[in-house]
Amino acid sequence: MRFEIVTIFPGFFTSIFENGIVRRALAEGLVEVGIHDLRAFTHDRHRTVDDRPFGGGEGMVLKPGPLAEALGSLGIEPKAVPDASGAKAPTYPPSHTRVILLSAQGRPFTQAAARELATLDRVVLLCGRYEGVDERINQLYCDMELSIGDYVLSGGELAAAVVVDAVMRLIPGVLGNQASGEFESFGVADAEIDTEIEGVPRSQHGAGGLLDYPHYTRPAEFGGLSAPEVLLNGDHLEIRRWRREQQLRKTLANRPDLLENAVLSKEDRRLLEAISQEDG
Ligand code: SAM
Repeated sequence: MRFEIVTIFPGFFTSIFENGIVRRALAEGLVEVGIHDLRAFTHDRHRTVDDRPFGGGEGMVLKPGPLAEALGSLGIEPKAVPDASGAKAPTYPPSHTRVILLSAQGRPFTQAAARELATLDRVVLLCGRYEGVDERINQLYCDMELSIGDYVLSGGELAAAVVVDAVMRLIPGVLGNQASGEFESFGVADAEIDTEIEGVPRSQHGAGGLLDYPHYTRPAEFGGLSAPEVLLNGDHLEIRRWRREQQLRKTLANRPDLLENAVLSKEDRRLLEAISQEDG
């Protein structure tokens, strides 16, 4: 899989991609990243990429010309423009490339969106700056706008790095243990897990959209607190039950919205009821 990042700050990504899993995935050729300096697609001596907004107002806007040229250099052509009568542009066959505009106005970037992107051959990420990108770039070239959260960043670079990291770790071979990507927060439902780990407690027993459970390691005593006894006794069934209950507790406490779409068993529902009653 290949990521193409279009940015006015190519140096931003240097240290980010030089560490941890991302560095290993790049070194092993499991993933490729192309960083494209938007200023390389300007033609004036100041290498101008921005201009004042039509209609007045704060700040500057990234000009469409350099962005269109940058995309053209990646073999990405504009979509057909809707005609004046308002007729819709023709739809295109699904391709294995997606062009994504990072934007606070985009739809939320979730683990489900990451899983979808991880199936593609190429993801092109456009990083906005200033007040954003001329909207015609969105209309002509972008398949979607993605937001990494309900806050405003000063540029799309951090958001692009977040997308690359979250998508990359779902690509087969990138994580040392492929099952890790399934058994963690926002994981898939049990039924979708094809990994059978006999005898060893599946870390989440199918997260089904819940948050992960708390993790502990040595020493067993720390800061006056003990690691939960159940994790030390080696009873895999008990461990699995405890972890599932912790997932439910954590999700109920921190992200109750996730419970609406989570895959819950009868036992999960009974536990949730009991936890809610405990909490009054
Ligand atoms: N005027 C824009 C608005 O109010 O939505 C904010 C522009 S922001 C200062 C500059 C750039 O940062 C955006 O074009 C976008 O690429 C990026 N950005 C800001 N917040 C983001 C978010 N939550 N998710 C993804 N990208 C974001």
